[in-house]
Amino acid sequence: YDMEEKIDYVFKVIVIGDSAVGKTQILSRFSKNEFCFDSKSTIGVEFQTRTVIINGKVIKAQIWDTAGQERAVTSAYYRGALGAMLVYDITKRQSFDHVAKWVEELRSHSDNTIVIMLVGNKGDLVDLRVVPTEDAIEFADEQGLFFYETSALTGENVETAFIKLFEEINRVV
Ligand code: GDP
Ligand code: MG
Repeated sequence: YDMEEKIDYVFKVIVIGDSAVGKTQILSRFSKNEFCFDSKSTIGVEFQTRTVIINGKVIKAQIWDTAGQERAVTSAYYRGALGAMLVYDITKRQSFDHVAKWVEELRSHSDNTIVIMLVGNKGDLVDLRVVPTEDAIEFADEQGLFFYETSALTGENVETAFIKLFEEINRVV
């Protein structure tokens, strides 16, 4: 049947984090099951959608990408977002050090209600890892975030992380 006719909820979700951590590729993996090896930093597409069933509800996820504007994310980007994938790169310490600032930014734009999934991406690059999993787990526990390590390249945990985020949003809507 046509799921479009039976949508129960539309969830706006945003993908956020430093440049080059893999935000666009994570979104591409989830929405199209693609990884683009020669992608440019800017794609120009504002959001992708995918319809999923969560606890019997048909949910249209509208997932926004910063499209290379990480340094100048506007209030419009955050407006109405129910959830966020906050991405860092397990091979770039700085991208993890900035996560706290992104959490602050997310919460200040959403009256603290936004559901945040912390994502340590590039899990396939095991030899280049500089951020221990335990550090991220500890931070996520302190801050009340959900957490997964992913690889947009192999696809590992990308679907799982998005679905978990939608389930948690669905619990609070
Ligand atoms: P964004 O700036 O956060 O949107 O990052 P991109 O999605 O454009 O990715 C930045 C770079 O990291 C690109 O060269 C991607 O090919 C690469 N990349 C993204 N995700 C992964 C991943 O999971 N594994 C590996 N090895 N490279 C990745
Ligand atoms: Mg991008």
